[in-house]
Amino acid sequence: MANIYGIDEVGIELAANTKKLAEQIKQRAVEVDAEAKFPAESLAELGAAGFLGLCMPTEAGGKGQPPGVFAAVVEELAQACPSTAMVYVMHVCASQTFVASKTLAGRDLLLQQVAAGKHLTTLAFSERGSRSQFWAPVSQMHTNADGGFVTCASKSWVTSANHANSYVSSTQKPDAVSPLESTIYLARRDAAGVKIAGSFDGLGLRGNDSAPVDITDLAVAEGELLTPQGEGAGMMLEVVLPWFSVGTAAMGHGLCLAAIGATQAHLKSAGFETDGSKLRDLPNLRARIAEMSCRTAQSRALLSVTTQMMLAPTEETPLYVLQSRMAALEAALHVTDLAMKACGGAAFSRHLGIEQMFRDARAGWVMAPTVDHLQEFVGRALTGLPLF
Ligand SMILES: Cc1cc2nc3c(=O)[nH]c(=O)nc-3n(C[C@H](O)[C@H](O)[C@H](O)COP(=O)(O)OP(=O)(O)OC[C@H]3O[C@@H](n4cnc5c(N)ncnc54)[C@H](O)[C@@H]3O)c2cc1C
Repeated sequence: MANIYGIDEVGIELAANTKKLAEQIKQRAVEVDAEAKFPAESLAELGAAGFLGLCMPTEAGGKGQPPGVFAAVVEELAQACPSTAMVYVMHVCASQTFVASKTLAGRDLLLQQVAAGKHLTTLAFSERGSRSQFWAPVSQMHTNADGGFVTCASKSWVTSANHANSYVSSTQKPDAVSPLESTIYLARRDAAGVKIAGSFDGLGLRGNDSAPVDITDLAVAEGELLTPQGEGAGMMLEVVLPWFSVGTAAMGHGLCLAAIGATQAHLKSAGFETDGSKLRDLPNLRARIAEMSCRTAQSRALLSVTTQMMLAPTEETPLYVLQSRMAALEAALHVTDLAMKACGGAAFSRHLGIEQMFRDARAGWVMAPTVDHLQEFVGRALTGLPLF
């Protein structure tokens, strides 16, 4: 197998270990999808093997791995169980805010808990009022008489809502004059004022538990701020967005690879009794699988360049980050669509698993930043306009 993300020996071994773990994780994937069941056992196994701390600093007990290794690990998970991969990606992105935070009290202890697999976290950016425009929350924080803060919010989608120990949440700073003046804070799931307000029943990633969460008069202490007041947009765009883009792009690639594998197997095995030919003897189906492979390889190569650029960022790096996510989301839709066409009715029924890949692949497109947002951001950057 080519080392597509150019990772070192340690990274290669971690990806190989993920592949082994993924064999068990895959056994549960059909049930996770059919019953919209949160993959708790799979997350527990990942935690026990140290993967919740994959990108945490080594001083905190983490594995200190860079974005390329994150991509390789997520690709393996997404091939086995896309819901597990989604939960994992949100955890890694949210926990990077702990690493970057200069304001969080008890940060070192929290990093150790994450690295030890004892703390699952997630992002709570989307709100009913701001919809996919995560950079502009409508909720607001207010200053309390005791010097702390209080906030209310209607968070519309929170992955792992019922299972995460904490939510990395966004809100406007006290007295903000623009929604871009945001603050990121840590909300504990069991805090008074945090309530899961529904359940998740979606087309794809059915086990990811992206439920709505209501935050009512939640007291937020100064030490629970992950950024200084008003500096949330920087954390969203400079810390969360790059990790989220890499993770979700790799998820898309995992789905592409799974779709290619299932299509290969079907074209080689299914055939016509009339003349003994196989599906692979049809040139249009061979053309489809060739396009699936080429499109996947193109997008993986772009992500590989991007993850390597992220190690020594330049002015161009943010553009590559955005383009990587854009390319992967579109590749995942296209490749899973081609798999449906190449395998026909057999793909439409459940037994090949391709219809699940087709459904799961569609989630990435609608997650913010959506492909619409990414096109707009990249177009603005290329024509010298400000991002917002
Ligand atoms: C499986 C899943 C898991 C998720 N998990 C999380 C999570 O853990 N945390 C979290 O915070 N959120 C999460 N989300 C929410 C996600 O990030 C989006 O906020 C949500 O999908 C937006 O849906 P909406 O109906 O509000 O979209 P809308 O904002 O109503 O968008 C509708 C359409 O308008 C387009 N559009 C919107 N604004 C613009 C614009 N400015 N320019 C051009 N086009 C635009 C969009 O691209 C889209 O096509 C999750 C979503 C999914 C599907």
